[in-house]
Amino acid sequence: MVFQDQYDVIVVGGGHAGTEAALAAARQGVKTLLLTQNIETLGQMSCNPAIGGIGKGHLVKEIDALGGAMALAADKGGIQFRTLNASKGPAVRATRAQADRIRYKAAIRHVLENQPNLYLFQQAVDDLIVENHRVAGVVTQSGLQFAAKTVVLTVGTFLGGVIHIGLQRHQGGRAGDPASIKLAERLRALPFRVDRLKTGTPPRIATQSIDFSGLTEQPGDTPTPVFSFLGRRQDHPEQISCYITHTNEKTHDVIRNNLDRSPMYSGEIEGIGPRYCPSIEDKVVRFADRSAHQIFLEPEGLDCNEVYPNGISTSLPFDVQYDIVRSMKGLENAHITRPGYAIEYDFFDPRDLNPWLETKHMPGLFFAGQINGTTGYEEAGAQGLIAGLNAGLQARGKDHWYPRRDEAYIGVLIDDLITSGTKEPYRMFTSRAEYRLMLREDNADKRLTPIGRELGIVDEVRWAAYSEKQQAVDAEFTRLKMSRLAPEKVDQQHVARVLGEPLSKNTTALELLRRPKVDYATILDLLGETKSVSDDVAEQVVINTKYAGYIDRQKDEIERLQRHENTLLPADIDYSNVRGLSNEVREKLQHAKPQSLGQAARLSGVTPAAISLLLVHLKRTG
Ligand code: FAD
Repeated sequence: MVFQDQYDVIVVGGGHAGTEAALAAARQGVKTLLLTQNIETLGQMSCNPAIGGIGKGHLVKEIDALGGAMALAADKGGIQFRTLNASKGPAVRATRAQADRIRYKAAIRHVLENQPNLYLFQQAVDDLIVENHRVAGVVTQSGLQFAAKTVVLTVGTFLGGVIHIGLQRHQGGRAGDPASIKLAERLRALPFRVDRLKTGTPPRIATQSIDFSGLTEQPGDTPTPVFSFLGRRQDHPEQISCYITHTNEKTHDVIRNNLDRSPMYSGEIEGIGPRYCPSIEDKVVRFADRSAHQIFLEPEGLDCNEVYPNGISTSLPFDVQYDIVRSMKGLENAHITRPGYAIEYDFFDPRDLNPWLETKHMPGLFFAGQINGTTGYEEAGAQGLIAGLNAGLQARGKDHWYPRRDEAYIGVLIDDLITSGTKEPYRMFTSRAEYRLMLREDNADKRLTPIGRELGIVDEVRWAAYSEKQQAVDAEFTRLKMSRLAPEKVDQQHVARVLGEPLSKNTTALELLRRPKVDYATILDLLGETKSVSDDVAEQVVINTKYAGYIDRQKDEIERLQRHENTLLPADIDYSNVRGLSNEVREKLQHAKPQSLGQAARLSGVTPAAISLLLVHLKRTG
């Protein structure tokens, strides 16, 4: 039976992509249904209980700037916060929060349950309803049919999921959850390119069975970083430490002696695993000369007694996992509460997606998250937001929107995926972005909140906070520009102590702030003032003043490239007719079918000279 209720957007899957997708659709005011296998697992972290990190923290801030839930939930659930790369430049600084699994999930569920226009329903989806080659709804496991204008699929590692522990294998979406077999079969029958990937997770350990006394303690940073632009330090729960131990030669011997029982090395697993988050057996084989690997013992929460040993993800048999764990310092008497495992699953070639994450083969159907070949909660959440936003925009009859590479890491993520596809689980790094100085964590709100407001996904509260902050930044900027220091009016001895030299000519506070060694506190000291603006306002003034020259240069470069970036390549372009292209470049372009010159320019092996030839061709034929 088809329900009378017609939804604008149906989101399938309540993981990290699904929750952001459902929220981004509903925030626009469209009627949205989130269908998921189990309401209890909304926002569940399948693997390590942590949000953010290098590149990933940038994504979380961008999701937040566009009104998403991930950063706020991390603030409510975070039990150890750090700023990574704190001593480096602002472009690569990144926030990371160790999260209490239960609190994080509860925060996500709270946001979902209180979002107007969003309806939750617990059912697995088995099939799609297709009318006139367009998706028109979904059919659940028990035969219920739900109609919708657009459907967003975010079913993570569940499609055809197979769990491996040693040479034993069984179907599963992640430990404790069923795989989506029927839906996987249905999707495999459609003209999408599909392949297999794998990922893994370590065994978990009972906290009381660990001897922390000889281990290195790693407390969070003080003052505690805050994730959301709306977050407040006082919303954080109690903060606790992580600890560090190491693998050793004994651990490595255990692994080497049992490689024949590993599903990866015996050929049982075909899917390619995450290069940057390899299993411990992979690390021992690939880095055979290393005698130790660092393992972070991360608490899973404040009210539970489990620890996540970050760094020993494994699919070796349980008895081997036991020996691995017990070979390490502090873990000699460790009790394992859950075995580690690897999981293989279907993913779809993201080159079959439009940049707004709608599938090219079926209008109205959007894909987001791990099913597009990525790994990580942040990558999933970022795609979910864009897919849900665009599913909603389409349902409202509006134009699609997606960020460019110079606007957001989300733009880099999507452009990388749809242009180059991926052969291994894709994760974000700052090194993937060309315009790192523009795409900082600290200015994600400036880059994206006004756009989100225009698109209808940034609410009043966020907009008011954003506007107030920008006004304060502008006012402080102007104030420092107007604050003059004259040699005859300052205490030159004091100035020499603070600046390393006396003041030789009239200058403004802003000019002084441009000097590499002068910070905001020094400026206040010279002006004889105490601080009157918040830390984040002062930070914006300082970064935008100190890096103004570099930022302007990047802006020029972006503008220059943009003139070509947005030049569209005809869908039916025949590259064999483009004079002067090498066969290799021709094949690459033919295969990747870039939509614009910008996309073409980013394909590996496509040189600036090849782009010039394409421009000439377009002028000649256009
Ligand atoms: P998920 O979080 O998997 O959510 C999918 C959701 O869809 C679930 O709620 C599920 O119940 C629901 N669902 C599935 N099928 C259906 C259906 N037919 N109908 C309705 N609902 C359905 N990431 C890292 O960054 N580092 C790691 O080390 C890492 N290790 C991992 C290890 C394991 C074992 C697993 C399973 C994942 C790991 N990940 C890791 C990946 C991380 O968990 C995912 O990238 C992230 O959760 C993907 O988010 P998602 O929203 O795409 O999917």
